Amino acid sequence: MRFDILTLFPEMVETVLGQSIIGRAINKNIISVHAHNIRDYSQDKHRRVDDTPCGGGMGMLMAVPPIDACHTAVFNMAPALKTKTVYMSAQGRVFNQSIAKELSEYERLIILCGHYEGVDRRAVDLLCDDEISIGDYVLTGGELPACVLVDCVSRMIDGVLSDTECFSKESFMNGLLEYPQYTRPIEYKGLTVPEIILSGDHKKIEEWRKKASLKLTKKNRPDLL
Ligand code: SAM
Repeated sequence: MRFDILTLFPEMVETVLGQSIIGRAINKNIISVHAHNIRDYSQDKHRRVDDTPCGGGMGMLMAVPPIDACHTAVFNMAPALKTKTVYMSAQGRVFNQSIAKELSEYERLIILCGHYEGVDRRAVDLLCDDEISIGDYVLTGGELPACVLVDCVSRMIDGVLSDTECFSKESFMNGLLEYPQYTRPIEYKGLTVPEIILSGDHKKIEEWRKKASLKLTKKNRPDLL
């Protein structure tokens, strides 16, 4: 799967996504992540990409022409791929595991990151198929949200996780939070691993995990039940 990220701060996403499991998947060519600097597409002699909002108001808005030029150039780098363009936005539908699954069915995602006061609305209306928020709060830019989206979607691509890291039994995949997990040492500062987990009886362990999963969901996320 290919991810193209349109941003004013490409180093931000390259640094975050170049690490750990996602970095490994990039090195193995299972996914590819390309960050494109919108500023490179500015026609302005000072390479300006923003302007004041029409009608007045605080801050600066990212103007539509450089975003449009950047999107067109990037789209044409791989026009045959099944592509969706997403605007990361505090005003979008709220991201979750099932939206990630839905997005993982595409061959390519083009992700537009706003900054400052955001982008001229026409960039969204003209170029974007979807608008996604990572939660009900406002960040300074779409770069961290884009990294969240790429990380979560990538984990669902075959080969990104090893079998032992499989995502299918994790929190939210069956509508519940995952059961508590433990590793050695068996006893630490007076807290011990529940005996049943050490019993070797797989049926009983499975039952315990189901109950523990339900109990944790009831306590932390009753809205999921
Ligand atoms: N003026 C906008 C508003 O009131 O909705 C907020 C703009 S925000 C300061 C700048 C950029 O950060 C946005 O264009 C968007 O790309 C990104 N952003 C901020 N919060 C976000 C969130 N919760 N989810 C996704 N993107 C977000």
